[in-house]
Amino acid sequence: MNEITAVQPATTPMVDPFGRSIRYLRVSVTDRCDFRCVYCMAEDMTFLPKRDVLTLEELDRLCTAFVEKGVRKLRLTGGEPLVRRNIMSLIRSLSRHLVSGALEELTLTTNGSQLSRYSAELADAGVRRINVSLDTLDPDRFRALTRWGDLSKVLAGIEAAQAAGIAVKINAVALKGENEHEIEDLMVWAHGLGMELTLIETMPLGEIEGDRTEQYLPLSLVRRRLEEKWTLTGSAHRTGGPARYYTVEETGGRLGFITPLTHNFCETCNRVRVTCTGTLFMCLGQEDAKDLRAPLRASEGNELIAAAIDEAIARKPKGHDFIIDRDHQRPALGRHMSMTGG
Ligand code: SAM
Ligand code: SF4
Repeated sequence: MNEITAVQPATTPMVDPFGRSIRYLRVSVTDRCDFRCVYCMAEDMTFLPKRDVLTLEELDRLCTAFVEKGVRKLRLTGGEPLVRRNIMSLIRSLSRHLVSGALEELTLTTNGSQLSRYSAELADAGVRRINVSLDTLDPDRFRALTRWGDLSKVLAGIEAAQAAGIAVKINAVALKGENEHEIEDLMVWAHGLGMELTLIETMPLGEIEGDRTEQYLPLSLVRRRLEEKWTLTGSAHRTGGPARYYTVEETGGRLGFITPLTHNFCETCNRVRVTCTGTLFMCLGQEDAKDLRAPLRASEGNELIAAAIDEAIARKPKGHDFIIDRDHQRPALGRHMSMTGG
C-alpha cells in the first residue's frame, strides 16, 4: 500500500446541524463474511461485485479525508473485516495517523474467527482494543446461530488477542428463545476474563429468513432478570455511542446495554458510517446517504471528497425511527447490518 503523508489533526471538528461534533467513523471494509449469523445475513447472500467495493487504497484515502476533518476514532467493521484480503496493509497504513497523533484510536469489530492469525500484527499496528461479537458459549448453539462458525476458533482468537495485549470487549445480540437464558453465563465468563460485555437488541435491518418479531428480546426485561440476582449500579461511563453502562458489583465488571428500540440515544450521537462501496450514512436508522465513491474516483486529491463529506454532515438527521413492523414483518430498513457494519 502506498504510504501517504501523515495529516495534522483538525483543530475544529465537523459539527452537524444539531450541534453534535462528529469524531467517530465506522467503516465497513467488506460486505463478505465467513459466518452467516441468522439475524444478520441470509444463508445464500449475494455479495457485491468487486468493482463496486472500494480498493484498500481508496479506503485509506477515504479514512484519511475523515481524519483530516477531525475524526479521532476509527472503527473497521464489515461483513468480517479480517476476511478482506490484505486487510493488514490497510491497518498498518492507517496506523500512521495514530503515530502522528491525528487519530486517538484505531479499532475493529470482528467475529473473532481470524484473531489467532492476526492479533500480534494488530497489536503491533497500534490496535489497543477490539470488539468481538459472541452470542453464546454453547458450541452447538454457536454453530446454529452463525450457521458456519466454530466456537473453539473464536475462543482461541480471543485468547490470542488478550495475550497480545489487546483489550477485548464482547458484544452479544440478545435473542429471544436462543441465548436469553445464557446471558448470565456470558457475563460471568466475560467478566472473569476481564472483558466488558455489551448486550444488543436486534435491529430490523435487512431481509433475513426468520421472523424478527420472534427474535426480539427487550433488554429492559433482560436487565430486570439480571437484577434479581446481581447488583447493577448505573455507571457514568459513556462512549458517545448508544450504550448505557452498569457495574456489576459482584463481578466488578462492566455491562452495557444497546437498546435502539426502547431508548432513544440519538442526542449524543457523534458518529457516521461508510459502507464498503463508499456510501456515507449519516444515521444507522435512516435511508439518507451520500455517495463518496464518485468524488473519490473522480480525482486524486481529497478536495472533492472533503466537499462531499461537508455536504453530508450538514444534513445529518436528528435521529432514527426504527420499528419492527408487526403487520408486514418487513425490516424497517432494507439494507443489511453487514453493509453498514453495525
Ligand atoms: N462481522 C463482525 C462481527 O460480527 O462483529 C462485524 C460486523 S457485524 C455486522 C457488527 C455487529 O452487528 C455484530 O456485533 C453483530 O452481532 C451485529 N448485528 C448484525 N445484525 C444485527 C441485527 N439485525 N441487530 C442487531 N445487531 C446486529
Ligand atoms: Fe458476519 Fe458479523 Fe454478520 Fe455474523 S454479524 S454474519 S459475523 S457480519
